[in-house]
Amino acid sequence: MEVWLVLWIGFAILTAMAASSRGRSGFGWFVLGLLFGIFALLAVLVLPRRNGDSDAPTPDTHVRCPDCQELVLKEARVCKHCHCRLVPQ
Ligand SMILES: [Zn+2]
Repeated sequence: MEVWLVLWIGFAILTAMAASSRGRSGFGWFVLGLLFGIFALLAVLVLPRRNGDSDAPTPDTHVRCPDCQELVLKEARVCKHCHCRLVPQ
């Protein structure tokens, strides 16, 4: 019986590792792994890879401030770093 418990938790850890390597919440998937065992692992393996943090600056959402060269939101009218006026693109 204890062997199954260890295997079950091992699957949950494996699920968490697979999830975090895909840019998802490791702890959340660890809990799902505890609840659903190998099904959670299969679910995380078929999920599409997410590109890291959704708040991470990308060329799609951010531009460089011409004055201070810091990344600011594309829609920003004022640079949050140096407070210079920006033209939204
Ligand atoms: Zn700036």
